[in-house]
Amino acid sequence: MLSAFFESVLQLIVRTSTDLPPDVRAAMRGAVGAEPAGTRSAQALTIIAQNIDQAATAEGAICQDTGMPTFELHVPRGSDQIWMRQQIRDAVASATKLGKLRPNSVDSITGENSGDNLGPGTPIIHFDQWEQDEIEVKLILKGGGCENMNAQYSLPAELPHLGRADRTLDGVRKCILHAVWNAQGKGCSPGAVGVCIGGDRTSGYLNAKEQLFRTLDDVNRDPRLAELEALIMGTVNTLGIGTMGFGGNVSLIGCKIGALNRLPASFFVSVAYDCWAYRRLGVRLDARDGSIRQWLYRDPSTPVIPMIDQAGFTRTGREVPLTSPLDEATVRSLRVGDVVMITGRMYTGRDAVHAYLMKHDPPVDLRGAVLYHCGPVVKKDGDTWRVTAAGPTTSIREEPYQSEVIRRYGVRAVVGKGGMGGQTLQALNDHGAVYLNAVGGAAQFYARCIERTDGVSLMEFGTPEAMWHLRVRDFPAIVTMDAHGNSLHKDLEAESGEKLEALRAGR
Ligand code: SF4
Repeated sequence: MLSAFFESVLQLIVRTSTDLPPDVRAAMRGAVGAEPAGTRSAQALTIIAQNIDQAATAEGAICQDTGMPTFELHVPRGSDQIWMRQQIRDAVASATKLGKLRPNSVDSITGENSGDNLGPGTPIIHFDQWEQDEIEVKLILKGGGCENMNAQYSLPAELPHLGRADRTLDGVRKCILHAVWNAQGKGCSPGAVGVCIGGDRTSGYLNAKEQLFRTLDDVNRDPRLAELEALIMGTVNTLGIGTMGFGGNVSLIGCKIGALNRLPASFFVSVAYDCWAYRRLGVRLDARDGSIRQWLYRDPSTPVIPMIDQAGFTRTGREVPLTSPLDEATVRSLRVGDVVMITGRMYTGRDAVHAYLMKHDPPVDLRGAVLYHCGPVVKKDGDTWRVTAAGPTTSIREEPYQSEVIRRYGVRAVVGKGGMGGQTLQALNDHGAVYLNAVGGAAQFYARCIERTDGVSLMEFGTPEAMWHLRVRDFPAIVTMDAHGNSLHKDLEAESGEKLEALRAGR
């Protein structure tokens, strides 16, 4: 029996959630070096770099959204796949109990969280047999923010700023550029894309995600696709999207393209967008006992090089201290581009809370409040709750509700990532509120800005969706939408759209 199989899979999950592979670290180190000091992207990258180191050191989740666990297995002939599947599910439940994975599996109709990351379709497990005598298990943890930025094109298609994308490699090039531009900072850029040319709608997406199992420095064996990957990487960063869509020199750290045969009538281009928290690892197991023979993507005998010197968030001296609850005059004095440091009370609220607030009064007084779009990882220590990972979630999902929440309840600041739309911008202007962009995925960094958890409301929605009452200190964020009708997101989308037009003709 494979007595060590469960423990090996558990180790794989924990390591994947907490320690970025060396190729991704190297690419992010390159991004840190590419942004001039003091710029918004440079400041965000110091937070990301510190977060990556903190997660590895403390064995905490790199991002609070630990994503959809997707396992790819190669097994020798005759392996008991039913037993292995059950062991993997047990390991996922254990990792969730240990707080290394956030409970992320919800009933699609009721929204009820299963609490252990198990349910129909979760986790995703794919088996393939091979001729070797080892078991290979690869895992990718891809969160919802970047998953929502996936795109599928049916060619020929007319694309904004790029014109017609034909059924050619140049048409594919346009689709990839469009997907990166469209994602802006919402998928926590700088990201990486896995792409599939062809297949059908389902196999195309699957193959696109499988491309993300390639290392960032891997050269495509198909010279035509290798050329296209190089062309994308050589031009895409002129878009100027930068880290978190703050503007900057690095928008993408990798592009990996595959191709599947297709029906003559169809020509799909599927793009799987992954964020900077690009968590994938793998192990080779001894088929006799399931013990780990070898790690994939990392060499445990090579010491991990820290991303930065741990000096922490680099202050420029221009940061604005904010103490919540906030008053209107303070909020109206803020302008797009200001970096703020928040101290005081903050309430979390994401999809379920916003939907609730449309029909019910809030469980707490939200006048002057800072509302944080965040689904934290929380552990109970005796009678108290401890937040162990707490980065922002993608704000645009709350666009249908946010203006009403601000208007009805007097919220003065909304913290999230990726920006919001026109209705929210109008409400900020009308009622004196701001949108603050925190750095997506920096779950360990922000968890350390939380002094304590004072309480929780609406726990019936499950841990990530409940309203947590947090006490924070020096929580950094950037004003990207102010109370005067300005939006950095709107401006950068337009600017990068113009740059996209410059790439329309190709080389
Ligand atoms: S880094 Fe951003 S996109 Fe990636 S999993 Fe975390 S919140 Fe989602």
